[in-house]
Order: sequence, then structure tokens, then C-alpha cells
Amino acid sequence: MNNRICPSEEILSEYLSGGLTPGERAGVEKHLAGCPGCRKLLAEAHDVLKRPDIREIGHSAFRWVRKDHWLIGSVLTLACSFLCPRYFLQFLVASLLMGAKWIIDSKTTKMLIMIQEAWKSGDKEKTDKILSRFTPDK
Ligand SMILES: [Zn+2]
Repeated sequence: MNNRICPSEEILSEYLSGGLTPGERAGVEKHLAGCPGCRKLLAEAHDVLKRPDIREIGHSAFRWVRKDHWLIGSVLTLACSFLCPRYFLQFLVASLLMGAKWIIDSKTTKMLIMIQEAWKSGDKEKTDKILSRFTPDK
């Protein structure tokens, strides 16, 4: 892995959840050692993981987010615009708005998805140890 290029959210999430191969882990750790930005992101994600209240809120939020309700709404209204040509424009506008909302939501939930991936693994002891190397004040 190139140390100058930041790993994607997917890779960091895999890293938190222990899903990477030893070689990949070493690459991520090497990058983290030289990249305060990624260390911060990882530490923040990890801090959230440890809070049970956030965790509870997160679980219900994920259920909603994972439903991709805006995308479904967008697709449905688009279908309606063809089924009811009389209201074609109204449905089309609604569809576009929901589609845009869906795109915005998926960007802001990247971080949450990263955290969720880590929850699923349950291997927090390991991430605790790894992160304590980068945050000596804790
Ligand atoms: Zn980085």
C-alpha cells in the first residue's frame, strides 16, 4: 500500500473490524503512523463505538438508513410519473428531490457505516490495543 494515499472508508472500516489480511493491516498501520488525519478519523469512530447510548441511537438509525428509503421513494415516484402521465412533472420533480436526498445521505453516513462494520465484528479489544498505540494520552 502506498503510504501517501489515505485508505478508503471501506478499508479503515475493515481495519477496525479486523477484516484485513495481516499484510493489509501492516500497510494501514504504516499509513496511520504517518497520517494524523486518518488516525483522528479512526479514533473518532472508535470513541463512538464505546458509547452505549450512541450505539443504541445508531442501531435504530442504521435500520432506517439501510432501508435506502429515499432511493426507494425516488424509484417509486419515477415509476408513478410514467404510470400517471397527467402528473408526470410533479412525480418527476419529487423523484429527483428524493434521489438527491439519497445521495447526500449516503455521503454523510459513510462514517456511520464504518462504525457499524466495526460493531458487527465485536472485536473491540484488538482495536483498543491498536488505537492506544496512536493515542498515548488515553
Ligand atoms: Zn491518511
